[in-house]
Amino acid sequence: MRLVFLGPPGSGKGTQARMVGEKLGLPQVSTGDILREAIVRKTDLGEKAKPYMDVGDLVPDEVVLPVVEKRIVEKDCMNGFILDGVPRTLGQAIGMEEVLQKLGCAIDAVMFIEVDDAVVVKRLSRRRVCPKCKAMYNLDTDPPKQEGVCDRCRVGLQLRSDDKPETIEARLVVYRKNTLPLVEYYESRGILKRIVGEGEIGEVFDSILGKLSEARSS
Ligand code: AMP
Repeated sequence: MRLVFLGPPGSGKGTQARMVGEKLGLPQVSTGDILREAIVRKTDLGEKAKPYMDVGDLVPDEVVLPVVEKRIVEKDCMNGFILDGVPRTLGQAIGMEEVLQKLGCAIDAVMFIEVDDAVVVKRLSRRRVCPKCKAMYNLDTDPPKQEGVCDRCRVGLQLRSDDKPETIEARLVVYRKNTLPLVEYYESRGILKRIVGEGEIGEVFDSILGKLSEARSS
C-alpha cells in the first residue's frame, strides 16, 4: 500500500505513521526527518532547508520533491510506503502524482488526522524528542521514565526548535493556507479517510487500522 498521512503539526501523524509502518512492514518516509538530518549533517539540502524550517515555513516544492522522488524509488519502498508530512502543498500533491504515474502506481489512501488548534499548541509545547532515535515523548501523556532522558538511548531529550510557541503559531497558519486544501483534493479522488486524532495513541491507531481495512476492501 502507498499511504499518505495528512494533518496539522502535532496531530500525531509521525507517531501513527511509524506504528502503522511497523504493523504493515512499510517504510515511513518523513520529509521532516530527512530535512532535519540534512541540517545536522550540514549538507546542501540542509543549508537550503534550514532558513525555512527555523521560522516554521515550508521548504520550497522544488527542493522537497526531488528528495521524495529519490527516496521512494529505493528498494525498501518497492511494495509500498507511508508518506509522513508530504505532500504539504497542491504543487507537491500534483508532483507526487506525476512521479507515481511514471512508476505505474498511485496513492491508495490518505489518512487525514484531525485535531483542534488548541490541542496542537498544547501537544507541541509539551513534546520532547530524542535526537538519536527520534522517539517522541509528551511530558503530560507519555513522559520518559527518567526526567529528560530517552528510555531507549539514555541521551538527553530536546524541544524541537520549531516547537517554540511563536513558531507553532506560524506553522498552523502555513498549514491552513497550504496544506488544508489537500483535503478537498484527495476527497475528490475518493481516497481520503478522516480520523479523529484527539484520543489516546492506541485509540487513534485502532481507528486508522479500521479505515485501512475499509480502503483495502474498496
Ligand atoms: P515535520 O517534522 O513534518 O513537522 O516538518 C518540520 C518542518 O520541515 C516543517 O515545518 C517544514 O519547514 C519542513 N517540511 C517538512 N516536510 C515538508 C514538505 N513536504 N514540504 C515543505 N516543507 C516541509
